[in-house]
Amino acid sequence: MSEDCLFCRIANKEVETRFIYEDDTYVVFKDIHPSAPVHLLLIPRQHIRSINDLEPAHESLIGGLFPLAAKMAKEQGVDKSGYKLLFNVEKGGGQMVFHIHLHLLGGWDR
Ligand code: 5GP
Ligand code: ZN
Repeated sequence: MSEDCLFCRIANKEVETRFIYEDDTYVVFKDIHPSAPVHLLLIPRQHIRSINDLEPAHESLIGGLFPLAAKMAKEQGVDKSGYKLLFNVEKGGGQMVFHIHLHLLGGWDR
């Protein structure tokens, strides 16, 4: 937990946000400024700044985001029509919240 991290605060329910999914390891919620008809953010509860900060011990934690994305896509009804998965990395890559998160974008063509 990083005190000044928005996504840690969301994961800890200190900032009210409706979760699409949660378990002990991950939280999924809608992006507040959606860039697509379906725009979810998938985060590990553990605070990791960005892809640049990954260590070998994080492999299964980050790997687990992908089957979770597939499950979320199916639940949102965009699995068959298709979707994008995106990590923005650091400022030049468009990252604005420095708690690693996977964007799931889709729903244009359902
Ligand atoms: P980044 O640009 O860091 O990859 O993505 C951060 C995303 O978080 C942005 O798409 C932004 O709209 C979203 N976001 C920022 N603040 C909040 C918030 O308080 N609640 C939610 N649900 N999304 C947020
Ligand atoms: Zn954090």
